[in-house]
Amino acid sequence: MSAILDKQHTRQRDSSSPSHSITMKEKLIFDFSASGRKGYSFSGKDMPGAAPGSFLPSKFLRKEPAMLPEVPESEVVRHFIRLSNMNYHVDKNMYPLGSCTMKYNPKINDYTCDLPGFSALHPLQPEETAGGALQLMYELSLMLAEIAGMKAVTLQPAAGAHGELTGILLIKKYHESRGSKRSTLLVVDSAHGTNPASAALAGYRIVSVKSNEIGRTDLQDLEAKLDGEVAALMLTNPNTIGLFEKEIVRISEMVHRNGSLLYMDGANMNALLGIARPGDMGFDVVHYNLHKTFSAPHGGGGPGSGPVGVSEKLVEFLPVPVVEKTEGADGPVYRLVSDRPESIGRMMNFYGNFAVLVRAYTYIRMLGAEGLKRVSENAIINANYLLSRLTGAYELPFPKQVLHEFCLSGDRQKKSHGVKTLDIAKRLLDYGFHAPTIYFPLIVSEALMIEPTETESRETLDLFADALLQIADEAEKSPETVKGAPVTTPVSRLDEAMASRQLNICCI
Ligand SMILES: *Cc1c(COP(=O)(O)O)cnc(C)c1O
Repeated sequence: MSAILDKQHTRQRDSSSPSHSITMKEKLIFDFSASGRKGYSFSGKDMPGAAPGSFLPSKFLRKEPAMLPEVPESEVVRHFIRLSNMNYHVDKNMYPLGSCTMKYNPKINDYTCDLPGFSALHPLQPEETAGGALQLMYELSLMLAEIAGMKAVTLQPAAGAHGELTGILLIKKYHESRGSKRSTLLVVDSAHGTNPASAALAGYRIVSVKSNEIGRTDLQDLEAKLDGEVAALMLTNPNTIGLFEKEIVRISEMVHRNGSLLYMDGANMNALLGIARPGDMGFDVVHYNLHKTFSAPHGGGGPGSGPVGVSEKLVEFLPVPVVEKTEGADGPVYRLVSDRPESIGRMMNFYGNFAVLVRAYTYIRMLGAEGLKRVSENAIINANYLLSRLTGAYELPFPKQVLHEFCLSGDRQKKSHGVKTLDIAKRLLDYGFHAPTIYFPLIVSEALMIEPTETESRETLDLFADALLQIADEAEKSPETVKGAPVTTPVSRLDEAMASRQLNICCI
């Protein structure tokens, strides 16, 4: 372990904190508190004062002062900086989470969304004074439509799952508008968990379609399940184990012949940009995750953005308002239009998570068409390079030609040495890497799903591969080391089940 760890820590020391300590402990902010210490001072009021009781109903008034820590500013800053140093994030090192596309987020994205013309906008200001923002939204939806080969795009949904719900409501409205009530959505068994969850939220019954022995949609099973109740099939392409659905044109024909629609989960478009378009494959709806493929940060709960693109037959149902462009006397005018009688209505207050839209717009404009294509080419090369280094040490349940991600199995380590995939993931932390996605998709036992993305260098990929190879070796020679990991993190194994069942976020 030491050689890899040395290299990793040398890199971390060079680039981040000189006092990087892997056994760092930090007290709670309350433990720094001492009565009367302050981190602020106000110099007089510029408004007349009033007692809270004179304008707030008494039931909303505190009986006792809030128990807040009293800590000077310098201590507050240092406390949170020390905590942030313990954090793992994509600005620190590789984040190989399969099906999550944690790519580096270019800093220019933050610069553009901080421009005062964007950051100081108010959602209720008159639209004539927000022409630039509306133009950006208009152009971003055109670019996304072109990237996926769709007719039109709404930018409203706040996340991938919210995009799914929006897309499914569009599908529902489509069938209702034709006087047909269909009750079922088909979802392939390798799908992301949000697919069946969104379908259920929209009121559908979910029927699972099997994957075949090579990890793709089983066409016979699909044929058997396509009946008059099927509103749509939800598919991910390339699918969650990184394989392209080669029979997609046939699948599209089967689904459409049945009067059903085809939904694409496009959260991870990292393999397709500039190479292939869902619209050309026959998809009627696709959602994008701007906070994955299009480089807005994610994790930690958002904000995200899950725009939805649709084919011609669904355009009239899109959420309102939509941004329209007209030619005015002094050039183009961008307007918000809500008068669309067939629309499913609003999916969000206001217009979507605007700062995320600015980031995605910046990213796409910085790369241009050629750059986007190279993103996907490099993402695919990186995934295949890593896979070629790791096969042999870990089992690969499905074929070798993957696109942007791949799924290994820790079955061998578990059967021969009792080392579970969870142990391998924990041991990776000791080598200074975030773990990949584990135990997903459900069709692979002891799954380790890895997506390196295009933004990692050959050197980083090699360090990551070295770490996983060494862990495979440790699993054989000293399984207890792997089972006892991590030993270099501020805390070791946590009781995750208890943490989520007995959530206690109250410190006092
Ligand atoms: C991340 C992801 C989603 C859900 O996106 P959220 O923004 O987390 O709601 C859906 N499908 C796939 C394939 C994903 O990777």
